[in-house]
Amino acid sequence: MKICPKCNAQNGNTAPVCKHCGANLNETPDVEISSEPEEKTPYNLNLSILFLALSFAVSTIKMLFKDAETEVVFPAAYFICVGLGIVFLILGLFCMRGLLKAKPVPGKGIFVIMMAIVVITLLIFDITMITDYI
Ligand SMILES: [Zn+2]
Repeated sequence: MKICPKCNAQNGNTAPVCKHCGANLNETPDVEISSEPEEKTPYNLNLSILFLALSFAVSTIKMLFKDAETEVVFPAAYFICVGLGIVFLILGLFCMRGLLKAKPVPGKGIFVIMMAIVVITLLIFDITMITDYI
């Protein structure tokens, strides 16, 4: 006697399918997939570090376009550096998306998050400086 894995109905030994619900009795019962495969958002910490470092670099370079009294000497070059800094920051953040979903967060990931916070703080400071000129 075969017991239907789906409805527990009793079927004859030779029955290929359950007479009650039609389930296939010859195949091993479908194993219910209890947890869906985790959707992992990819992240690339090395690229994140690269972009955040570039963002930091242009933030530093823009200081060349200021004089000692924090007057912007070459506004165009200064603003371009800030703009590039923002672009690199966005690219860096894009490459680290999904990092917070990663469990556990790798040690390098914590470093990247801290790096991002520093770069964001610098850029917020830059942007408030720019608004003084507008
Ligand atoms: Zn059945």
